Amino acid sequence: MGLFRLLFFGLLLYIGYRVLKAMMAPKPGTPTNPAAPRHDGEETVQDPICGVYLPREDAVIGTLEGKRHYFCSMACLEKFREQLDHTTHS
Ligand SMILES: [Zn+2]
Repeated sequence: MGLFRLLFFGLLLYIGYRVLKAMMAPKPGTPTNPAAPRHDGEETVQDPICGVYLPREDAVIGTLEGKRHYFCSMACLEKFREQLDHTTHS
């Protein structure tokens, strides 16, 4: 009967070892956020004229009436200025 007890004890040790190992192991399913293709700190702005989103460093910045506006191109900036002139004149 001595051998049986030894086997039983060994099995208990083995199970304990497996449980401990499972608890120590790093969690396998931590999701790395896939919906973040942008670099850290990079800010996107929206062109108010054509509605396009672009990184702020690529944008054309127009300061109008003390407010900063970001555009995808000079053409959109000009359009915005025209609209502003139009609304202030009429
Ligand atoms: Zn635009």
